[in-house]
Amino acid sequence: MNICVIGTGYVGLVTGVCLAEFGMNLICVDNDIQKIDLLKQGKITIYEPGLDNLVAKNTKEGRLHFSSSIEEGVKSSLVIFIAVGTPSREDGSADLRFVEEVGKEIATWMDGYKVAVMKSTVPVGTARWLKGLIQKHQPQPAPFDIVSNPEFLREGSAIEDFMRPDRVVIGAESEQAVAIMKDIYSALYLIETPFILTSLESAEMIKYATNGFLATKVTFINEIANLCEKVGADVHHVAKAMGLDGRIGKKFLHPGPGYGGSCFPKDTRALSKIAHEKGYTFRVLDSVIQANEDQKKRMVAKIKEMVGDLKGKKIGILGLSFKPNTNDIRESSSIAIIRGLLEMEAKVKTFDPAAMEEAKAILPEVEYGKDAYDVASGADALVLVTEWNQFRRLDLLRIKALLKEPIFIDLRNVYDPAHMKRLGFRYCGVGR
Ligand code: NAD
Repeated sequence: MNICVIGTGYVGLVTGVCLAEFGMNLICVDNDIQKIDLLKQGKITIYEPGLDNLVAKNTKEGRLHFSSSIEEGVKSSLVIFIAVGTPSREDGSADLRFVEEVGKEIATWMDGYKVAVMKSTVPVGTARWLKGLIQKHQPQPAPFDIVSNPEFLREGSAIEDFMRPDRVVIGAESEQAVAIMKDIYSALYLIETPFILTSLESAEMIKYATNGFLATKVTFINEIANLCEKVGADVHHVAKAMGLDGRIGKKFLHPGPGYGGSCFPKDTRALSKIAHEKGYTFRVLDSVIQANEDQKKRMVAKIKEMVGDLKGKKIGILGLSFKPNTNDIRESSSIAIIRGLLEMEAKVKTFDPAAMEEAKAILPEVEYGKDAYDVASGADALVLVTEWNQFRRLDLLRIKALLKEPIFIDLRNVYDPAHMKRLGFRYCGVGR
């Protein structure tokens, strides 16, 4: 089957490459010509473990192509996946500008029956709106179906998540479109992946409800952690015992500096906005959004509490990406914390295994080190913000010797507080 994916970012590139790996013929399109040129040379534009090998393999085997022409992609494909960005507008709602641009172009080049599949995360009602938009912009009427097929992959383990998802959600109104989607994902039937066949609106809501719930779970444990600090409890024991309750589950119960990334912040805001537009106040979600913002600020206050007046102090920050194994710094807590420290006139030196170039573009005033030890050297405190494996087994005595003051602030609770104290650090984590 010939498939086109429009948008070759984190989701689009992974979707295209994995579908090629499933045996489809893929053309991946982006209007960023530089990105497409690099991909044509086999150069990957994002940091995602395993992606480069799969791109090379499927390109070599002739199933994966890159283009900057939507016309070429649409004309040569039966199915067109839309995977462009849907960033937040200033008011929190999802900006559908890119979806609209792409929808109009798809309409222009349709030359026979096609299936347009929405992979991007979009407000409820968007698939139906897109159907009308395509109908309106077709030069001549051509038959087509719309499918909502939200994506649940996590950056850092995107390939595994795409190839072995917990479920596949397909929102559709035509049997033909459902049959085509099942054919595309037939490899997943073999591993008994649950398929949820539903309406366009329900499929769109499933994605937002999932991210809203996960963001709530993270925020809940962050608030429990904050309370643990006040009452002298250890959030690790609390989270472990909570997680063993089958009704709760142990995932997403790790306290930290607040959720970030390209999805949770924007999707929670968009869901809240969808509710408001329908005259409904989503109280839980609104509190989650506020509590998460506060959590990032609390981390700056925590650093200040440990270090004292921050003016002129040199703070080492380990990790810039919003989580390990990605170079994505969109709404990363680390970036928010660094900004908070700079506002208090601290000097910041940082290191991240993958996201330094991205950070340099938005934080030129920060100093960038070559590794954790370089960052620790001469610093008044070291703050671990993103739990990359490189930061999990630091030579702590060497770190202590390099620091001006032996202050270690561990916002991911990677290290054991008692051990850190034994080594002579002034140590604090989150909720312990
Ligand atoms: P991204 O910004 O990494 O990629 C979007 C790509 O679309 C960019 O390469 C951009 O150049 C391209 N694009 C924009 N307008 C275009 C146009 N008119 N023609 C062709 N290409 C165009 O975004 P992403 O992180 O891949 O997210 C895409 C969507 O998937 C979003 O709705 C997001 O919420 C959703 N999603 C993301 C993740 C994730 O982990 N990143 C997970 C699940 C769902």
